[in-house]
Amino acid sequence: MFRIYNTLTGTKDEFKPITDGEVRMYVCGPTVYDYDHLGHARTYLGFDLLVRFLTYLGYKVTYIQNITDVGHMVNDAEVGADKVQKKAHETGQTVRQIVDHFTQAHLRDLEALQVRLPNNFPKASEHINDIIEFVEGLIKEGYAYTTAAGNVYFSVAKKKDYGKLSHRGLTEILTGTRVEAAGDKRSPADFALWKAAPVSINEMTWDSPWGRGYPGWHIECSAMSRKYLGDTFDLHGSGLEHVFPHHENEIAQSESLTGKTMANYWVHTGMLSVGGQKMSKSLHNSLTVQEALKQYSANELRLAFYQTHYRKPFDYTKTVMEQGIALRRKIFQAYAISPEKTDMQVFDAIIDALNDDLDSPKALQLWGENAQLINKADTDNLFDIFGLRYMPIENSDSAKRLAEDRDAARAKNDFLTADNRKAEIEQVGYEVVDTVNGTIYIPR
Ligand SMILES: [Zn+2]
Repeated sequence: MFRIYNTLTGTKDEFKPITDGEVRMYVCGPTVYDYDHLGHARTYLGFDLLVRFLTYLGYKVTYIQNITDVGHMVNDAEVGADKVQKKAHETGQTVRQIVDHFTQAHLRDLEALQVRLPNNFPKASEHINDIIEFVEGLIKEGYAYTTAAGNVYFSVAKKKDYGKLSHRGLTEILTGTRVEAAGDKRSPADFALWKAAPVSINEMTWDSPWGRGYPGWHIECSAMSRKYLGDTFDLHGSGLEHVFPHHENEIAQSESLTGKTMANYWVHTGMLSVGGQKMSKSLHNSLTVQEALKQYSANELRLAFYQTHYRKPFDYTKTVMEQGIALRRKIFQAYAISPEKTDMQVFDAIIDALNDDLDSPKALQLWGENAQLINKADTDNLFDIFGLRYMPIENSDSAKRLAEDRDAARAKNDFLTADNRKAEIEQVGYEVVDTVNGTIYIPR
């Protein structure tokens, strides 16, 4: 039985999908104005493990991840410039060029991290009609109001259980809201569904019943999740930083319009820090996915990340990454000489750990300590679950040729050439391991 921690209930709940054998899930995607950094990697690797484990358990998973290409302000108080507009202004490119470039970069990064790609990546800018209809519905039902300036806001006071996900009351929320952000809202806690476009912005704005403008950030997820997954779906997730206000507001919008539960399970991944510090551009410790992948293989990165539970804070350090390397070496080495039969007690214990709210640290510890007791077929299953790629050296022409050269050089005691070949083998993604039974070549 698979149990998962549900932010909504605050407990580990037995996972029961709406339809037998099928899971419909939605994860908030990136705002495409910059390259994915390690914080993104943390979130998307967390949900990749979930998707892969659900697939292993036999579920057919429909996974939607949106692309925010409009409407996300530089801060969540909804003041300041749109992040994408700001980037376009800084670089002298059009908004369209910025979002296309960074959407492609995001997909490339996911693939480089060996993430199983979601079934669909709907873009906010391509769902403006769905968003407008959604907002019209909320106004009609009395949950939203328009202002003279052409803005539309959600009236938080109308949603009686507002705060149920983040487990805080309206008073608490109001004391935490900056008063100057109120503008033309009736209450500072209200949030934008549609914003009137200032005359200075002429890209990525649309005509609406309320004038020319663009959607607020939260509404796109309500409109697109409903379109692709229905009024109620199984699981909604993202990083912990989105519990409030983003997910709280998604729930308010969706459940007010449909009168139904939006998602049964709300799952959130923990934060990422670098060397004990919050990662930020101003601290110059911000690392992109591409930068990390220059130092470590995707296999190593995944193993290093999964050695911390998905809900716990993850601190990216050299030590943690080296543990990922060591584990990769251990299990790949064992795979090269795996036994015929698996010790099922060990294998079942690994799966049991994952059934308990994806306890990957425990699962990986068990696997690392007992890798030599698991046969090839069962190890292949574990590779699938953890998204590891093991390509034997025989399948890589360049690496194979280098390995043969190295073996020949060693046979002639030409150690200089052998060392050069070893370095080249590592460059093409393999590691040379000398064992008591001779040299083996394993993927990085
Ligand atoms: Zn969202």
